[in-house]
Amino acid sequence: MYSRLIENIDLADESSWNGDQVFITLDIDWCPDFILNEVIAYIEKLEVKVTWFTTHKTIVLDNLFQNSNFELAAHPNFNPILFDASVEKGKGAKEIIEQIKIFTPNAKSIRSHSLTQSSPLSKAFVDLGFKYECNLLLPQKFFPSLRPWRDFSGIIKVPHFWEDDVDILFNDNPISIKKISKSAGLKVFLFHPIHIFLNTFSNSHYLEYKKLLQNQDAVMDLINVKNKGIGDVFKELIENVH
Ligand SMILES: [Zn+2]
Repeated sequence: MYSRLIENIDLADESSWNGDQVFITLDIDWCPDFILNEVIAYIEKLEVKVTWFTTHKTIVLDNLFQNSNFELAAHPNFNPILFDASVEKGKGAKEIIEQIKIFTPNAKSIRSHSLTQSSPLSKAFVDLGFKYECNLLLPQKFFPSLRPWRDFSGIIKVPHFWEDDVDILFNDNPISIKKISKSAGLKVFLFHPIHIFLNTFSNSHYLEYKKLLQNQDAVMDLINVKNKGIGDVFKELIENVH
């Protein structure tokens, strides 16, 4: 299998997304720098193409800008204006996207934190220069063959067929990379750096990390080496990808 970047999808050329290729995407989700550094260094050595959906500005991201295997994409968080009544009025979706664009000025791809989506939001993405929206999880066991499409807003919708945190929550059918790689259509994986780093194997494992977030030594002790986790799934995937 080959790895490709979301920004290289061409609707006029099916070979740009269909066939023997996968799209590896990572949602950064405010990952602490010491973890992000480790995960970037690990992935850089592998020479696979990765689309990074970025939540915040950090010096660590400068490495991503330098690497042509990496696509820097935007990952805005609309949850505060949707769910936090204390947020001041005056900050709308457009302002949130514009803030992200300050440190991802050339981003062509966008995915909302929590996959927040709506028709006006897609229109705002187009108005602010985005070409690809990656906000739809269509699990492979229900949707065996996916494809990208241009919707009425003008944006190209790029669904993903697997997501690490969903796998952790509903781990009744562990992923088989070998099986999934033989499936037809568009294959987009969604990982989070924290789950690759911790090799997360259950939701309670992840919740332990959230309690210790600020304590670097304690977090290091939480790295899972006993159970099959998301880091193992990632390793299995990249061992099959060039
Ligand atoms: Zn997120």
